[in-house]
Amino acid sequence: MAIVRTYYTCPTCQRMHETVKEATICRNRHPIRGQNWAVGKYKMVRISERCHPDGMYGLNWALREADLSDNIEERRKQLAEINNGVNQR
Ligand SMILES: [Zn+2]
Repeated sequence: MAIVRTYYTCPTCQRMHETVKEATICRNRHPIRGQNWAVGKYKMVRISERCHPDGMYGLNWALREADLSDNIEERRKQLAEINNGVNQR
């Protein structure tokens, strides 16, 4: 007959271990990773490292997005101001 056996899962990599001690060692071995966020006037936007800096979700997109309101009317005004600035150059 089969028996019940408890395994301990590392919360970071999900690997199973036979003891809490082994799982704890595994968990502590994972490096702490930094994550870059654009912190703006209106919100925080995560910067995707996989995307080109000028592309969607990239560095420059995130920096701009963080300074834009989520309120549609406010956002429309802000975008109009940005476009006017571009046209005046
Ligand atoms: Zn692990």
